Amino acid sequence: MQTFNSADFRLGILGGGQLGKMLIQSAMDFGIEVHVLDPDYNASCSSYCHHFKVGSFKDFHDVYHFGKSLDLLTIEIENVNVEALKRLQEEGRRVFPQPQLIELIQDKGLQKDFFVANGIPTSPFIKIADRDELQQHLDKFPAVQKLRKSGYDGRGVYMINSADDLSNAFNEPSILEERVNFEKELSVLVARNESGQVATYDVVEMEFNTDANLVEMLFSPASIPAEMAREAREIAVKVIEKLDLVGLLAVEMFATPDGKLWVNELAPRPHNSGHHTIEACVTSQYEQHLRAILNLPLGSTALCSKAVMVNLLGAPGYTGDARYQGFAELAGLEGAHVHLYSKKKTKPFRKMGHVTIMDDDLEKALEKARIIKEKFKIIA
Ligand code: ADP
Repeated sequence: MQTFNSADFRLGILGGGQLGKMLIQSAMDFGIEVHVLDPDYNASCSSYCHHFKVGSFKDFHDVYHFGKSLDLLTIEIENVNVEALKRLQEEGRRVFPQPQLIELIQDKGLQKDFFVANGIPTSPFIKIADRDELQQHLDKFPAVQKLRKSGYDGRGVYMINSADDLSNAFNEPSILEERVNFEKELSVLVARNESGQVATYDVVEMEFNTDANLVEMLFSPASIPAEMAREAREIAVKVIEKLDLVGLLAVEMFATPDGKLWVNELAPRPHNSGHHTIEACVTSQYEQHLRAILNLPLGSTALCSKAVMVNLLGAPGYTGDARYQGFAELAGLEGAHVHLYSKKKTKPFRKMGHVTIMDDDLEKALEKARIIKEKFKIIA
């Protein structure tokens, strides 16, 4: 029987944001020593890990030198230097998710090619090199232009309604995708360990804030027919198995009014749509990610309670040292679990924290979420 000496085991995380911080919380349960690399010495993780290294996770040398004395490397953001991870892997470090899969997922064009090649349903698209090329595709508007690389939280997404919008379009390698008239946005978290064991969580339904262009509220289980939920989970399993990915994967999907599911994009790490699993599921997405990359048996994904998660975003109009208006009232809401991300500075729509509200009556939980959105404010 194998032994696991957690005290001697050093895990490195590329990226020191809130996802890293919550991953550290789970690593603490396993007694694992955690090292973090992030360029911001004030990053969420900075005070909570064994060793915090200030440096760029996009830089070859910073990543290579950070990783070479560690046992296992993982990520909490996908825009990392893949070449350094490949080198570390060649030299015997363990790296999960695998560097070549991070590389594939970093590029929305390659992600789409992967979906098509593997029969994963996704919206029709073409790849374009620059803004000028859009002129040849006027017949495809309205459409969505997405930067192939480095987009996040909607910042690499541009809605093109007509040729009038072209002057503001991205002038970089992009994909031009059919605009989907979706009814719902869904997410399925799926994990796979090295032995090939796979587990999915209940489907999450995301509610988008169109002003901020990011998800503001989500709940699980999604209010969709059982058959659609089963299909969504099957698609997520197919994606992770076709990729052979080890770790946690978030599979974002659109549900169309005629009941079809289209995969939008992938995130190979713990994800915003899985925060609720900390309190609402037997095994949190963070622990599950650790189990997967350590090749331990995956934990139960069962929901202990229905749950709503609200992202706490910096209020528009405030930039500077963060203050939390209405915090006591928020903490006083029955069934509400508050997470603040230890970010000193707020700015409009910055993700500063989240709240998970557990209630088997989803309507009641959603009502509390609306109260939070109305009464709680992050100002400077
Ligand atoms: P990011 O990687 O920045 O999160 P996404 O690809 O998830 O970018 O797009 C952000 C949001 O834009 C989506 O959640 C969705 O609301 C909208 N969107 C993206 N693609 C499409 C599409 N093809 N049709 C309609 N809306 C879309």
